[in-house]
Amino acid sequence: MKKTVLVNISYYVEIDESEIELSPNIQNKLCENRTIESNEEKVFLKWNQSSFQVLNPETINCGECANCGCWTTDREKNDAIFGIDNGAVHNNKLLCDECLPPDHRWAF
Ligand SMILES: [Zn+2]
Repeated sequence: MKKTVLVNISYYVEIDESEIELSPNIQNKLCENRTIESNEEKVFLKWNQSSFQVLNPETINCGECANCGCWTTDREKNDAIFGIDNGAVHNNKLLCDECLPPDHRWAF
């Protein structure tokens, strides 16, 4: 018996600020069905939805990890962004789940 599974994938793309209005062109190219091979079987992925969001630490809950520089969101706030690595503020620094101390709640 087969079950339908929702697969969410996130990409980061750097776009010149003046070209952000053109970003639907990139988005359109990501909105397509795909067939991939898994264990020598072809698996059909039916495209459902994609979204596009400018990462601006001044307006949304995101920032670059103070240690490694990857994008992360503060999971201790209730406006954390789904699709960005989990993170939290530790000693006044935003750290991703890989850089938080191992005993931290959001450490990976
Ligand atoms: Zn990090």
